[in-house]
This record gives sequence, structure tokens and C-alpha cells, in this order.
Amino acid sequence: MHAPAVKNIAAVMPLSIGNAFAALPPEFYTRLMPTPLPAPYLVDASASAAALIGLDPAIFSSEQFVETFSGNQLLEASRPVAAVYSGHQFGQWAGQLGDGRAILLGDVPASDPVAGRIELQLKGAGATPYSRMGDGRAVLRSSIREFLCSEAMAALGIPTSRALSVIGSNQLVMRETPETTAVVTRLAPSFVRFGSFEHWFYNKNHTSLKVLADYVIDTFYPELAGAENRYHAFLAEVTKRTAHLMAQWQAVGFMHGVMNTDNMSILGLTIDYGPFGFMEAYDPSYICNHTDSQGRYAYNMQPQIGHWNCYALGQTLLPLIGSVEATEDALKNYQAQYAEKLDALLHAKLGLQTYQENDDKLFDAMFALMQGSHADFTLFFRRLGDLQSVHPETDAPLRDLFIDRMGFDSWAQQYRLRLTAENSIDATRRLAMHSINPKYVLRNYLAQIAIEKAQKKDYSEVSKLRQILERPFDEQPEHARYAELPPDWASKLEVSCSS
Ligand code: AMP
Ligand code: MG
Repeated sequence: MHAPAVKNIAAVMPLSIGNAFAALPPEFYTRLMPTPLPAPYLVDASASAAALIGLDPAIFSSEQFVETFSGNQLLEASRPVAAVYSGHQFGQWAGQLGDGRAILLGDVPASDPVAGRIELQLKGAGATPYSRMGDGRAVLRSSIREFLCSEAMAALGIPTSRALSVIGSNQLVMRETPETTAVVTRLAPSFVRFGSFEHWFYNKNHTSLKVLADYVIDTFYPELAGAENRYHAFLAEVTKRTAHLMAQWQAVGFMHGVMNTDNMSILGLTIDYGPFGFMEAYDPSYICNHTDSQGRYAYNMQPQIGHWNCYALGQTLLPLIGSVEATEDALKNYQAQYAEKLDALLHAKLGLQTYQENDDKLFDAMFALMQGSHADFTLFFRRLGDLQSVHPETDAPLRDLFIDRMGFDSWAQQYRLRLTAENSIDATRRLAMHSINPKYVLRNYLAQIAIEKAQKKDYSEVSKLRQILERPFDEQPEHARYAELPPDWASKLEVSCSS
């Protein structure tokens, strides 16, 4: 099973690889090699992700790149591991999970020295001791979805793991039907999850719990290391980052789909893209994950689930923090932090520079109107930026998103009054709004078209879509159809946990 190290890879791929996570005691992981991927080929790779680690995109088409990021050849000095973690899935304690198909190759220096080191992780690189009943593989369909969404979220300015590449193979694995496999290379400073902490707490191993907490604090939160109670400071900071992340998701209409504690990043990043979705016809109770029959992870549940997950983390850190009171203190600002961030984002989305009384009423009325008319979330905010304050007769593109035209007219009137109240200038407001309200998001049907082409070995659409989504705020008039309302068949698309 041992893959040979590539001796001359440094010449083309100057990655000096270490593995800080693997310097932890052995109970945190299992050392193992990726399972070779038969006859791998490049599906797509992201130059902007490559830039994070100083990789020249010229190397994407090389055999070495494909061999390395399929897991077939190891970077010299790489000592890969699969990490153990546990978690709560759909609100229930699920016990031990772990990297069942992800293998951490190690970490490399970020090209931006401030960013420290970045871990390289192969997803779909074969079975591990944590695979349980799974085959350790990921299918091309879900790999493309994770790849595109990681890069799209980064371009939207939302904290996320990144995706360097998708490497495909003709190897088949069984899902609902047989599907071909792929390996995604993911990049993040760390893939430690809330569930990594829960694992030690529920195994009553407070020694390892402390080792993990100290590793994460010292490596990723060094500014907290000297706090009077570093575990309290750590929980408070993770809580804040999670609250802010939830506000960013809500503001762009992103739905994760599986907010289990094992899918919650300890760095406050969006990780583990599965049955995610972007809100289209606005429906706050929308459930993007077809498997989530109870709607636990519906759009409007995300903020409170984020809070619930922080509590689950707090529970595990309690033995280190020392008291229930101090633990609750670290968690107590979640709602306020979420609300404050969302409020700031909503003001920006509406192009409002000041905070005025009754702004929340304007927002509530807007959402009620959008819900009543099933207005497209992305198009609404984008077109709102084009609204001309003194020319209601030019409202048609925006107004046409509403069944309730009268309702829209009366809301638009309120909005215009609100703009006047802060002497808003259309041109300035338009620029500001177009830099926060994306024109292009990864609509399910767009991903589906790219996936279906890729399943026929045409990867051009994956690449094209990635490039469009790398500039979500730019007009890109030549790609305007990628910003249109979804076609009728899109409403029949079902996205499940199957991946
Ligand atoms: P997810 O729902 O993708 O976050 O996965 C939950 C758990 O199941 C994690 O421990 C994964 O590693 C594991 N898992 C999911 N799919 C597979 C698979 N095909 N093979 C092995 N483990 C898997
Ligand atoms: Mg997961």
C-alpha cells in the first residue's frame, strides 16, 4: 500500500511539507497511506487556491500534479494521517466518526507569511480505520460540488476551507447507482472540528482534551494563549466566529445542509460541503438537504443550530474552563454577536450607511414581501442596487420578481424614503451594493449542468463555472445567463447526503 515518494517533485512543486497535527500524540490519528486511485486525470484545479501555497498553475497539467493530488505519489517527507473525531449528528450523539475518507498529507507554508501554514487534505483518498461501513471514496458529483462551492464561498468573502483540485478516475463505487470516484484536495489551516473535542470529552479523557485545546490555541489562536483563562477565551472566540459565520451564511442565502458538530470548524470556517444550497425563491423554512426530513438544518434554523453547536463545544471544554458559570459566560454573547453582524450585513446589502430607528421594520417587511412572492434571493438584492431613487418607473426588473406588485411598490416607497433620509447617492450606493450582493452564486442547477457534462468527460463547464464564481460581484455581461432565474427542471433537483 506504500506509495513511492517523488524524488524530483520539489523542482516543479516547491512544497516543503510538515505535519504539525501529526506531532500530537498518536491517539489523535492513524498514520496511513492514501489508497492509489486507478488512472487518475485532472478534472479542474483552482489557480487562486494554488496561489495560497505558492504553487504555479502551470503545473496543473503535469503528471506529477495529478499523481500527487490523487494520492498516488507522496510529497517527500509527507507522513499522512487520518484524524479521529466524534460528533452529534442531527442532534443525537453519534459516537466515534473520524476521517473516514479524508487523509491529511501535512502542512505547507502559506505564500502569505501572516497566514502561517496550510494543511493539504485529500478527500476521497480511500478507506481509513474510521470509515465504518463506507468505502473511503467520494464520487465525482459531490467532489465537483465541494470544489466549486469552496472556491465560490472564498470569492464571496466567507470564511471557508479551499479546494485546490479535483482529480477523477473511472473507478466505480456504489451509491444510489454506480458512480465514478474523485479526490478533492482541500486546504485550510486546520480541519479540527467541534467533534474533535467532543471525542475526548465523551471518552472521559481530559488529558487528551487538554492537549488538543492547547495545540489549537497555541497554533491558531496564539493571541489567546496568555489569557487569564485561555480555554474560556478560546470558547468565547470560537463562539464569536461561529456567530459571525452564521450571519454571513444567512446574508448570502447559503445553506450548509448538515450542520452536525463534526462538520463545524474550530476556526469558524465553512467546511464539509455536502448537500448545501443557495436560497433561490425566498422561503425561510427551506430545507436544502433532501435527507433532513425534520428540517433541523433549514435556512432559518442555521443561526440557532450554530448556537446549539457552540453549546456542545462548551460542554466539552467545561472541564478545562473550570466552572459552568465561566463556560456560560463564554457562550453568552452568541445571539448578540450574530444579530449585530447580520444587522451590519443587511444595512450593507440595502446600501444603507446609517443606522436609523425602524430599519428592522423595513427589513422585516422586505423579507415578508420576498417570502410572499417567492422572490429570488440573489436577484432581489442585486437588482435592488440598480434601483433609482427618483425614478420608480425604472423599477421593472426588480418589480417583476414579485407577484405582489402593489406590495412591492409600497415597500419600495418606504425604501426610497429611507434612502432620502440619509441623502443617499444612487451611483455610490449602487457600487457599494454590487460589491456585497453577488450577481453569481452556485445555483444547484448550474452545478448540475457542470456535473452532467463532467460525467461525460467534458470538464469545460466545471472550469467555466469556477471562473465565473471567482468574480461573483463583477457584471460579466458575457455570462449574464448564469445569473438568471433557475429553469423549471431545477425545482425537481434533489440533493441528499449521498456523496
Ligand atoms: P459527512 O456527512 O460527509 O460529514 O460524513 C460523516 C462521517 O461519515 C465522517 O466521519 C466521514 O468521514 C464518514 N463518511 C462519509 N462518507 C464516507 C465514505 N464514502 N467512506 C468512508 N467514510 C465516509
Ligand atoms: Mg463531515
